[in-house]
Amino acid sequence: MAAGIESPTRWSTIRKDVRSLAVLPNLVDYDEACRTFTWDSARRELTGLPGGGVNIAFEAAHRHAVGERAEREALRFVRADGTTHSLTYRGLSEEANRFASVLRSLGIGRGDRVFSLAGRIPSLYVAMMGTLTNASVFCPLFSAFGPDPIRQRLQLGTGRVLVTTRALYRKKVAPIRSALPELRHVFLVDAEGAPEPDTLDLTALLRDAEPYGPVAETQREDMALLHFTSGTTGTPKGAIHVHDAVAAHLATGRFALDLHPDDIYWCTADPGWVTGTSYGVIAPLVHGVTSIVDEEELDAERWYRILAEQRVSVWYTAPTALRMLMKAGAPLAHEHDLSALRFVASVGEPLNPEVVVWGTEAFGLPVHDNWWQTETGGIMIANYAATEIRPGSMGRPLPGVQAALVRRDDEDRPVMLDGEAELVTEPGTVGELALRPGWPSMFRGYLNEEERYRRCFVGGWYLTGDLATRDADGYYWFVGRGDDVIKSSGHLIGPFEVESCLLEHEAVAEAGVIGIPDPVAGALVKAFVELRPGREPSDALRLDIIGFARKRLGPAIAPRELDFVESLPKTRSGKILRRLLKARELGLPEGDTSTVEGSR
Ligand code: ATP
Ligand code: MG
Repeated sequence: MAAGIESPTRWSTIRKDVRSLAVLPNLVDYDEACRTFTWDSARRELTGLPGGGVNIAFEAAHRHAVGERAEREALRFVRADGTTHSLTYRGLSEEANRFASVLRSLGIGRGDRVFSLAGRIPSLYVAMMGTLTNASVFCPLFSAFGPDPIRQRLQLGTGRVLVTTRALYRKKVAPIRSALPELRHVFLVDAEGAPEPDTLDLTALLRDAEPYGPVAETQREDMALLHFTSGTTGTPKGAIHVHDAVAAHLATGRFALDLHPDDIYWCTADPGWVTGTSYGVIAPLVHGVTSIVDEEELDAERWYRILAEQRVSVWYTAPTALRMLMKAGAPLAHEHDLSALRFVASVGEPLNPEVVVWGTEAFGLPVHDNWWQTETGGIMIANYAATEIRPGSMGRPLPGVQAALVRRDDEDRPVMLDGEAELVTEPGTVGELALRPGWPSMFRGYLNEEERYRRCFVGGWYLTGDLATRDADGYYWFVGRGDDVIKSSGHLIGPFEVESCLLEHEAVAEAGVIGIPDPVAGALVKAFVELRPGREPSDALRLDIIGFARKRLGPAIAPRELDFVESLPKTRSGKILRRLLKARELGLPEGDTSTVEGSR
């Protein structure tokens, strides 16, 4: 892209409709927090191990097991029928100790990798805390993965132990077991009474183990978690995270999620993805709040029921879920008592301004976008809980986070001046979003891919691969992933802007936008649209939607072509897969599809 091209953002029509939403208590002013906060101050807030080290499981579970939080529910699981069962902080700590003791007795120790392959069941949380207690490394896999992605990741990560269920084992792991000589033990969480060949019965092992024991002394830089990225742009990468990360989970849990000790907090992400561990497990436990865990899948009616019946006060979810609720309509939201809820936060892909405005009205609450990545391990840019929201913007860098936009040349490489990356300073100009390394939850490498890791850093900045603009007040606006932006007749078009505009049309439920090659313009914008319930595809509707977009975006940016689809391809973490839309459109190979929803 040519350096200095104006960003084609035009948000004013939406921005003026929205009231100022600076409503949340107990947070110091954003500017004040930016001036005074340091990551070291967050590190000092941790309890720390007696020997001076730090351990995520100690901060999240064991230190709460004595004292006033001991009997508080740490995790409250909601069953399919709506009934619940819980683990208290003391219970979680004891179970984690038992799990660590089982690992020790089997010779699994420091740095050994323990994988999980399970739905959101209690054993998954116990295994995670127990693994960290033992100084081993935890790597969660999404339970809907098929045998091949499971094998790849276990091989890449040298999995020594796998925690799973009998059904998942039989269907997906037994067939690949012979290809995994390094995998020493498979623990089944539900093997009671009927042994399964080549596996161990976890319930029996835990029953016989000691509920009290030492927390292994781990240091800040010791590896704690291995997380595979969502695979939106290609082959998933194994991001390495260390125990130091917990300082970031503590601070960002306060700044971006406004967690307070009495909160009932619900993060809908699966622990198979980084959001589900950083903010589905670690951050809420470190803050000593009660976390809701829904064992079922996404469903509008059920979700509203959980929000109401469990008296959820802070809700962390994703744009795809909010769009699903929008599709179901505001009256459904109004049927439920959401009076306990303070605010809604979202992460994972761009949050369309239309959804922010809809959510604000439907829930009567602010909806906060958050930007971060598997690599950053924690929230980096967000609507700091006590600041005004600008719908369509990701917000501002959290205190302690130094963000910038690196200028890119015509070949999409960073522009360098005397070894320094040139930064975009003009408001509204596109650059690659970059972060100054040094925050605690930053990844410390891609497993076995040193060169790929090294390439992420230029002139003292970590390059995120995402393009954005910044306005005069320091709010960041997502333009697109570097690979997804469309260059058409000298314009730089972010798919997010076009998709957000399409979503404003009353018939559109979801939209995915790509560039298709064109000999004259370089690329033309093509949209794939999923309609709202009750709307039928027709040529008239196609023209109407294109006309609607042209009026708002202008002919250079509005889609030239539009196809109706039943559903858009998504990653299992709920992101629209534009690379797949493009490959299918152009008849190209589909690449790595291990994380595609519906694939096996
Ligand atoms: P891969 O790196 O394997 O292609 P991925 O980037 O989707 O997959 P994640 O680490 O889960 O894997 O997702 C991080 C990315 O998701 C960000 O780099 C960004 O592109 C997108 N994203 C996350 N939150 C937001 C947000 N609030 N607004 C816009 N984009 C977001
Ligand atoms: Mg990525």
